Amino acid sequence: MRPMVIMTNRSQKNFYTGAGLDRATVARKQADWLAQRLAAPESRFLAVWRGQFLVAPSPDGTEAATRPAYLDPSAPWWREAATLAPAFLGVEGDIAHFAVDLSGLEEGHPELLGLGAPTELRTLAHQVDRPTASLLAYVRGLLGWHQRHRFCGVCGTVTEVIEGGHVRRCTNPDCKTLHFPRTDPAVIMLVHDGDRCVLGRQARFGLGMYSTLAGFVEPGESLEEAVAREVMEEAGIQVTDVRYQSSQPWPFPSSLMLGFHARAVTTELKVDLEELEDARWFSRDEVYQASLRRGPPDGSLRLPGADSIARRLIEDWLASDV
Ligand SMILES: [Zn+2]
Repeated sequence: MRPMVIMTNRSQKNFYTGAGLDRATVARKQADWLAQRLAAPESRFLAVWRGQFLVAPSPDGTEAATRPAYLDPSAPWWREAATLAPAFLGVEGDIAHFAVDLSGLEEGHPELLGLGAPTELRTLAHQVDRPTASLLAYVRGLLGWHQRHRFCGVCGTVTEVIEGGHVRRCTNPDCKTLHFPRTDPAVIMLVHDGDRCVLGRQARFGLGMYSTLAGFVEPGESLEEAVAREVMEEAGIQVTDVRYQSSQPWPFPSSLMLGFHARAVTTELKVDLEELEDARWFSRDEVYQASLRRGPPDGSLRLPGADSIARRLIEDWLASDV
């Protein structure tokens, strides 16, 4: 018997989307314009330390007032301490937003302590509003790319930052290769046969948790082909009717998750135990019951977190007629 009512995120944007900034992709190429924005008293400078954000205890002790720390534009210390020129994020009306990487400071540095406790995005995302969570995801992806691309992949020379932090250019005059922020496409898919769906678990998952199958797209492969290949590799199932659903930035460290529903043609599971600890068919009712489950894990089925596109793919299937 199908559940009559199910909460669904169908009409909502995915988590980590909807920052609402104008990225000003033309203006940010102009050094003069950027310099003006950097000097403008109303500009905002978000502090980042080793991929984490700095969060001071809220004045009234509630999560509702949680904010990531911004730097005081009139206090010069951080301009010296930054490992990178402030990365331009975009404008909101007349206000420009930048991210400042303070990763060079040692853990426990007094200036860092003054800003707050380093906090991971996946924790903070649930304590701030959705546009802020999206902005933080953007920052994590962009600064993470800078950390891992300090040298030219063509000739090995140091690269320099240009265009407000959206391009790195090789400093070797014979090379000058431009490097752009990297985003790795990954497919994530809910495979179903109408009344049941396939969920798998990795050994690192929490007790009882199962999620949708997923994998990276390879060169020379369409998204639909990547879905079919990954499902066959991980679960031994043939699929058809591969339908795009929605996408989500996933800056852990640099993925773009492309979500699909796919219908199983075969049903016998052959689990790749290198990739997964287990994969199973679950009935609609089992998955529906799991979607309602709260409190500490007790070994029964758990679904992935509300910030994940996996959860949305599962809930949208529950709410659908297929
Ligand atoms: Zn080079």
